[in-house]
Amino acid sequence: MSRFSDTKTAFEHKSQTELNWAYWLFKLIGSPTLTKVGTALTNCSLKLRLPVEGMIRKTVFNQFCGGISEKDCLPAIQKMHSRGVGSVLDYSVEGKDDEASLEATFQKTMETIDFGNQHRDEGIPIVVFKPTGFGRFAVFQKITEGEKLTPDEEKEWEKIRERFDAACKKAYDYKLPILVDAEESWMQTAADDLVEEMMRKYNKEQPIVYNTLQMYRHDRLPYLKGLYERAVADGFYIGLKIVRGAYMEKENERAAEKGYPTPICPSKQATDDNYNAVITYIIEHIDRIALFAGTHNEESAALIMDLMEKKGLAKNDPRVWIAQLYGMSDHISFNASKEGYNVAKYLPFGPVREVMPYLIRRAEENTSVAGQTGRELSLLKTEKERRKEAGV
Ligand SMILES: Cc1cc2nc3c(=O)[nH]c(=O)nc-3n(C[C@H](O)[C@H](O)[C@H](O)COP(=O)(O)OP(=O)(O)OC[C@H]3O[C@@H](n4cnc5c(N)ncnc54)[C@H](O)[C@@H]3O)c2cc1C
Repeated sequence: MSRFSDTKTAFEHKSQTELNWAYWLFKLIGSPTLTKVGTALTNCSLKLRLPVEGMIRKTVFNQFCGGISEKDCLPAIQKMHSRGVGSVLDYSVEGKDDEASLEATFQKTMETIDFGNQHRDEGIPIVVFKPTGFGRFAVFQKITEGEKLTPDEEKEWEKIRERFDAACKKAYDYKLPILVDAEESWMQTAADDLVEEMMRKYNKEQPIVYNTLQMYRHDRLPYLKGLYERAVADGFYIGLKIVRGAYMEKENERAAEKGYPTPICPSKQATDDNYNAVITYIIEHIDRIALFAGTHNEESAALIMDLMEKKGLAKNDPRVWIAQLYGMSDHISFNASKEGYNVAKYLPFGPVREVMPYLIRRAEENTSVAGQTGRELSLLKTEKERRKEAGV
């Protein structure tokens, strides 16, 4: 029995119908063939403008997203807040590279920060954005790869810097922590350097700006140690979201194709060890580094709790958060929150058609990552049986 196995606590917010839906959905996406066929059919239907949005909304969308707008998300935010879990509103429109879309995403992010500030005491403790939501991937990539930008690209980069700065400044003015997501390694150095610049500017008194480290990369612990030295020398706080990383297949494939050594750890165990080593390092250096641990891994979540206890930190120390994605690993979220830890869930939102890449990633992750679907299914099954026996 793990400390997260109480399914009554995990699923208290779900009606019987919602529980049955979730069970059915995870069963469906647990099958690689069905997921492949379903994804292809959905993409095709959306391209042909067939009326499938209603169906998507009732199924995967409702499981993994809070709604189309921030306001739509309020019932989910309030429901989670009533059980001590915060929401991180995540505008999940991805992969749009034209200037109009980038500006729209930036404006939406700014609105979300305002919305977060208005509702911070009702369950929005932190906000987030994604680097390539603010600028073209190719510009980040060129800088990461040390290539010279054209004059037009220089202007684009300037715009990206302005957008990063405006979002971080708004968060700073509200004293509302802001996370910056991590993406593919071949664009990430440009984002890392820019986020560090923001930390130097806005984290002088406390950690407001958080970068993300993906621990499937074997170079992140040395990177963190370097960042720590710079933070001590130059007097700023570090905020870090620590995740395992979502683009493993893509990373390995590109490295093999282009013939460079993969940046990914050689095994799942190596990634797990790396994740846990960084968590341990951060808790040891908690006076300088704040932690937002994004994980569905029970052992990592339990390790954070143990390390906090050993270090003598209060369970709700504001420098430590444990986080999951909406619709996944409720057993960790709600049991940890019941114990008194700071817990948040990413709550994606956006137009159904435009959050499809996010939804497909969730479906594929639940298919390809050994264990996740099994974990969700067996918890849902246990709760169904528990309710049946209890006559609920
Ligand atoms: C709140 C939150 C925010 C997130 N933000 C980001 C983000 O900004 N950027 C991002 O990339 N991801 C992000 N993710 C996703 C995250 O990176 C993981 O993909 C996801 O959480 C699964 O990892 P896990 O820690 O939950 O645990 P597990 O299910 O235990 O681990 C699965 C992960 O282990 C790694 N892995 C699996 N097999 C191997 C192997 N053979 N070799 C090496 N490594 C392997 C992969 O990273 C895989 O995703 C976020 C997740 C959460 C919960």
